[in-house]
Formats: sequence, C-alpha cells, structure tokens
Amino acid sequence: MATLIHAGTVITPQNGGVSVYRNHSLVLDGGRVTESSPAATFAGRLDSFTDVIRAERHLVTPGLVNTHHHLYQSLTRCLPAVQNVRLFPWLLGLYERWRAVDFRSIKLAAQVSIAELLLSGCTTTADHFYLLPPASDVRAEAVLEAADELGIRLHLGRGCMTLGQSAGGLPPDELVEQDADVIADWERVIAAYHDPQPHALRRIDIAPCSPFNVTRDLLEQSVQLAKAHGVLLHTHLAETLDEQQFCKERFGCRPAEYLEQLGWLAHDAYLAHCVHVNDVEMQRFAAAGTGVSHNPVSNARLASGVMPLEHMLEAGVRVGLGVDGASSNDGGSLLAAAKAALLSTRIVRGESYKDLPDELPLWSAHDAFRLATIGGAQCLHRAELGHLEVGAAADVALFRMDDVALAGAAVQDPVAALMLCDAPRPDRVLVAGRAVVRDGRLVAADEFALGRALNEVVAERFC
Ligand SMILES: [Zn+2]
Repeated sequence: MATLIHAGTVITPQNGGVSVYRNHSLVLDGGRVTESSPAATFAGRLDSFTDVIRAERHLVTPGLVNTHHHLYQSLTRCLPAVQNVRLFPWLLGLYERWRAVDFRSIKLAAQVSIAELLLSGCTTTADHFYLLPPASDVRAEAVLEAADELGIRLHLGRGCMTLGQSAGGLPPDELVEQDADVIADWERVIAAYHDPQPHALRRIDIAPCSPFNVTRDLLEQSVQLAKAHGVLLHTHLAETLDEQQFCKERFGCRPAEYLEQLGWLAHDAYLAHCVHVNDVEMQRFAAAGTGVSHNPVSNARLASGVMPLEHMLEAGVRVGLGVDGASSNDGGSLLAAAKAALLSTRIVRGESYKDLPDELPLWSAHDAFRLATIGGAQCLHRAELGHLEVGAAADVALFRMDDVALAGAAVQDPVAALMLCDAPRPDRVLVAGRAVVRDGRLVAADEFALGRALNEVVAERFC
C-alpha cells in the first residue's frame, strides 16, 4: 500500500541546516517515510505503487509543527472591543465573551482552526485548551473529536484555570475549576487518550494556563503528575511586563524564578512566549532542557514585546514556533508566523541586540524553516516529526512552485520562497501518509460549510 511522491524538490532539515534535493522521490508506507532517493531510481517501477503523486512542479516539505495554539479562540478573533489593548485587558474583555462557550461551539471553532492549520501545511499542532467552565458541557473531547475528524496530529494540552478573581487571580470565578476536579480529569484524559508510542497521532500534555490564573499548589502537583504519567508539561510564561509585575507583587520574584521554584524548569516542559526573560534565565532553560514556544505574531498583536530569539538559540534553548490562539493572531498560518519570526530578528538586530557576537550572521530563512519544522518537533520531543529522512513520520506538505505566490522565488531558493513570500496554500497535505488536503481543499470536510457554521454561532453568541 505504498505511496510514491515522485520527482519533487524535497526540502528537509538535515545536519543542522536545510537540505534541498531536486528531482527526488519519497516512498511512504505504514505512516512512515521508508525510502528517499533520486527520482531516477524509480524509473520503470511506478506501477508497483498503490498511489503515485507526481511532484515535478512541487516543493515537498515536512508537515509544519505548531507548538502553541488555543483552537477554540476562533470564536473571538478580531473582536472589536479587544483589538487595541494589551494582554490583561484583552483577557478581561474575552473572559466575558467566553462565558457563552459550550461543547458544540468549542468543537466548531477547533474544526475551523485546524482547517486553517492544515491548509497552511501544518500537520501537527499543540492545543493549549484551558477554558472548561464547570457549569458548561465543555470537555476535552470537543477538541479531540475535531482533530480526529480532520486528521491533524495533536498534542492536546488539557489546560485549566483555577485561580479566580476572588482568590486574587485574573479570570472570573465562574470560569475557573477546582484543583481536585482538574487533577481527576487529567487522570481520565491521559488514561483514555494519551498514546506514548512514537508516531502517535494523539498525545495529552498537562497544561495549566499561567502563573496568574492557576494556584501554586496545582502548578506543583502538575510536575509530579507529568512525571508519573510520562507526559509533557506546558504553560504560558513571561509573556508580558504585566505578568512580571503580578509575579513580583504576589510571589516576590520574576515569572521564570517562580516556575523554577515549583520544579517547572525541566526537560519535559515547554513554555509559551518567554518574551521577558533575562540571560541567566535563558541559561537555566538550556541547562534544564526546557523547551520554548515562540509566538511572534501574537506578541506583536498584543504589544507584549519581542522574544530574544537569537539570544535564546545562542544559549542552546530548544525553540519551536507557534501561531498562538486565534484571538491574538487572527490567522493560523505557521508560514506567516515563520516570516514574522524572521523579520522580528531583523527589526531588533540593531541596538537591542548589541551584545550578540559581531560575527554572528543574520538569522536566515533557512533558520526560520528549521524553527517551523524540526524546532517544533524537538520542543514536543517528537524525533519522528519535522523532517523527511527515512524513518520519519509520513507527514508531508506539497506546495506548487508555479503558485503565483512563489513563482520565480521557488527557482532562486525554495526554502526562502516559503519563508519570505506570501504564504501559499499547499496543494496536498498528508498526515501519517493519509491525504488530509487534496487539490488545495480539505479532504474530510467542506471548509465553507465550517466557515458558515462558525459565522452563525459567532453572530448569535460571541459578538
Ligand atoms: Zn497562548
């Protein structure tokens, strides 16, 4: 039942850089890449494959890996009341709208967000899902079902908020859960859905929301639970100066110091944002093997600041890329996020980066491609993702080189074309060898029907 992707321009992270193989073919079998050879190797053998994808006009890349999202947030993207405010007032405005969520609206929003990811070439996403109001029927299954139906590979970070306003936290009490209920549900969801095997389509991560809306107790217990179950830890950290101020006032230390006290600077943790971290903290992340998810579009949208990406990489931190939730990105393209990451480094390379070594070359499009692929895979501890070497997962995106968005550039430098031109829509996307996008359209759903349904729900309850 093997599939042959034949005679394409194959691009894959390799040996610390990015390799480009022209007129090259890949064999996919059993959900994996089983052969990677020059196209000529297959002359006269095309009939022996169940499916042959002619890729003479395509760039063939590993499926992109998104390390941070809140899939449900397409319910409240471009909300006028919070378009022009920073994180804390943005959250306070959104909490009021989010009181209306139920299972159906969360699932629909997740389907739309996943559709956007697949239609931009992303095949693996982490979802930091922390909005489960106790009085609602919302459960983790809303996101799990959406991912299953559309075919994306998922790290579901079953999140939570447990520190309500009456206890000094940011969210209204009606939206927060009890610590004990969260722990019980972590146990339930991990037992029912976590697949620890390599090439798993579904993993569960333990993902309390942030230091300003989760109790200290639960953050500590999260570390023990993650170790006991062999799952990853995820949370937001050091996103804004408001958060830094909150931590100093409440805990007497900086956000990264607070998490370090609780045991969170660990190899099995990956942290979203880390915009406001200093050199010492970066070195601690690197020494502990803690991963960082970089979300440049969201950080710009909320005026949170610019994450010191080049410093972080120089320090040896594992960094992946994220689009972040649809209410602070408003789009789900990882290619667009990679471009933003690249341009951000150029914007700040002047005065604010003066302590980087003079000889360090500018961070490049090839570096950005690694961030969107193998960087994310390393952040999620997924050695089989983010590249196309033999043994890798058969997660592949094919982009037409004659797409007007790439034309000309794809001939000059196909990697830079994907990173610097406007993000193209992939012609085909496969997850574990299975087609999820064909001819630029979702295979398992009508994207316009999803869009119409979301428009109706948003107009009824989330405006
Ligand atoms: Zn986030």
